[in-house]
Amino acid sequence: LFIAFEGGEGAGKSTQVRRLQEWLTAEGRPALATFEPGGTPAGAAIRAIVLDRAHTGLSPRAEALLYAADRAQHAHAVLRPALAAGEVVITDRFVDSSLAYQGAGRTLSLEEVRTLSRWATEGLRPDLTVLLDLPPEVGLARARGRAAADRLESESLDFHQRVRTTFRALAAAEPGRYLVLDATRPADELAADVRARVGALLGV
Ligand code: C5P
Repeated sequence: LFIAFEGGEGAGKSTQVRRLQEWLTAEGRPALATFEPGGTPAGAAIRAIVLDRAHTGLSPRAEALLYAADRAQHAHAVLRPALAAGEVVITDRFVDSSLAYQGAGRTLSLEEVRTLSRWATEGLRPDLTVLLDLPPEVGLARARGRAAADRLESESLDFHQRVRTTFRALAAAEPGRYLVLDATRPADELAADVRARVGALLGV
């Protein structure tokens, strides 16, 4: 079973990934938790480049190709081997992040970014995508409390609105494969909703 968590800044993805992993482990279904960008050694090097746009001056297309390279390596070295071994795999971000950030955010063609990601992953798709949805103003205020906050200020609120709108549109287009949660709700409630959905999929 392959589960992706998606959402904008400060949505609480990493908390929910950790809580789901802990619950699955307690249920006797150990799960692999991983993330993008940076979930492999090559990916860590790519992450350093893409998150340092102020210095690297990356063009939107160069950025999209680097995220695709990160995802290709992640799929090849981490996701596919674990799924082939029958593990539950939980990733913090996947293809939808590129559609939202590189596609809508940087105003590249969504279809082209989708084709690039599909090629990079050889068509790997999550069985379930959990979208932690919240207004960018709320998410940015939360994320500002953390390190690396400077980077967030380099994008306009409009950029983050386009990211949110795109995540929601992707979920609306495939409601059966998404769980959309209001990420302004308490983390405990969100974790319970995620457990209910994943438990139903796994029969636990
Ligand atoms: O999820 P995490 O906070 O590690 O992501 C780091 C940053 O990378 C995010 O703030 C987001 O702005 C950016 N990102 C992106 N495009 C992606 C994935 C992440 O711009 N495809």
